[in-house]
Amino acid sequence: MKELSDLININRLNALAGDLVRIPSINPPGNVEACVDRLMKLFERHGVHGRVVSKFEGKPNFVAELGHGSPVLLWNGHLDVVTAGEEKWEHDPFGGAIKDGFLWGRGSVDMKGSVSSMAEAFLMLAESGRELKGTLKMTAVSDEENFGVAGTRLLADEGEVKADFAIVGEPTNLGVEVVQRGIMWFDIIAHGKTSHGARPHLGINAIENMVEVVKILKDRLSPLLKERSHPLLSPPCISITMFHGGEKVNVIPDYCKLSGDRRIIPGEKEEDVRREIEEVVREYRTDENRLEFNVQKLVLPTETSSDHPLVQTLLKNIERVTGEKKNIAGKDAGTDAYIINAQLGVPTVMFGPGDFRLSHRPNEHIPLEDMAQAAKIHYLTALNMLGVGL
Ligand SMILES: [Zn+2]
Repeated sequence: MKELSDLININRLNALAGDLVRIPSINPPGNVEACVDRLMKLFERHGVHGRVVSKFEGKPNFVAELGHGSPVLLWNGHLDVVTAGEEKWEHDPFGGAIKDGFLWGRGSVDMKGSVSSMAEAFLMLAESGRELKGTLKMTAVSDEENFGVAGTRLLADEGEVKADFAIVGEPTNLGVEVVQRGIMWFDIIAHGKTSHGARPHLGINAIENMVEVVKILKDRLSPLLKERSHPLLSPPCISITMFHGGEKVNVIPDYCKLSGDRRIIPGEKEEDVRREIEEVVREYRTDENRLEFNVQKLVLPTETSSDHPLVQTLLKNIERVTGEKKNIAGKDAGTDAYIINAQLGVPTVMFGPGDFRLSHRPNEHIPLEDMAQAAKIHYLTALNMLGVGL
């Protein structure tokens, strides 16, 4: 068998990652056409026919398969990125600079470096000439950063992420994450009555009433959440993230709206998560002080058993390639594993190169060495999971 170091094409891997970072696929609007085009051409050049699955303008998804039949191993990664922000970067966030063994730029960690590792591993497998006993399916998607419908959501609707097991390539520092927290996004709206600023007693001040609700959420619910725990995750939490109200400085406001972000751990039930906020709202709701509570989005936590063969195979191959023993971990933030695992029931883990703590921050950068190691680990794991042996 050819050595892994002979199979991997480091230049091809680094060139892809650099080129993807140079495409500013910031979401919103999240146009990833050029990224998908780059992948299509690369795969085509190496004799692999990729496909584009798309329903929304500027938001195509790349799909490629190797082998056929079951089982199916799915690789999933996203091509959109968040804004570079206002702060000045050491290197141009969309310059794709390669310096001192790192690739610099927005999306290098989250997660164009990881998508490039998957693409490289895919091409290594295609070039190895080994026949897989099953199907390897790679999906590089749009619309992840804003929880949108054009990416993995669309692929799920089209039956494109049906699989027996899946790896979501979010950055894990080459560790394996088997659990992620769930999310509830909600609004609370207060309706009051306007009056002149000189006669506040004739009106109902929606902002002042809403502030009381916020106080209870922070003083009563927050401490309660901090007491709950999971061995691999931070405790659940609640944050008020948007607050709007008032139209004129001398008018008592009759409308106030806040939006909040609640993170959920396994063991917390959907109805309880809703009820805890509903109860606070009900406590303050009167005929005069009308309060509404609406859930905008709710996804439950996902969890895959650490005994699952995919987890154990990844751990073994991580040690083989890096020489390091890794422990399993959990992810506090959300990923497309929600759709693949929580909604479709596909056992899913997160594994990828790069330090998650650099995601969404200035001076995001990823070690090139980690990208190469991730490609080798993916290669070996696909061979193991698809029954080829080594
Ligand atoms: Zn991400």
